[in-house]
Amino acid sequence: MSNCFRFRGRKGSTTALFEVMSRANHSCLPNARMVGDGHPAMLMTTTYVNSQEEIFLSYGGWETGFTEQPFHQRQRHLLDNWGFFCRCSRCQEEEALQIKPDVTQISAGFAA
Ligand SMILES: [Zn+2]
Repeated sequence: MSNCFRFRGRKGSTTALFEVMSRANHSCLPNARMVGDGHPAMLMTTTYVNSQEEIFLSYGGWETGFTEQPFHQRQRHLLDNWGFFCRCSRCQEEEALQIKPDVTQISAGFAA
């Protein structure tokens, strides 16, 4: 799967597909970002990355604040805009920490 990038300039927006950068995966815990205006553009790691580690970009672009959003807000954004739930390592951890509704209270509410 490949991803395109959108660049906004004085003459409007341009969409570009890059041979390597477009193959990077996405995560809510990115370890790289795209820099440049498309002429050229580069991937720059934002943390130490081992040679066998996968490169992840942010879904929403670095400047959008997407990664600062809470779990449910990120999931809602991805579902509404891209039609999927994220299962990245951060989302799996945060989902496990979510408070689950008490089933007995829900059942009692319907009986009343
Ligand atoms: Zn995620």
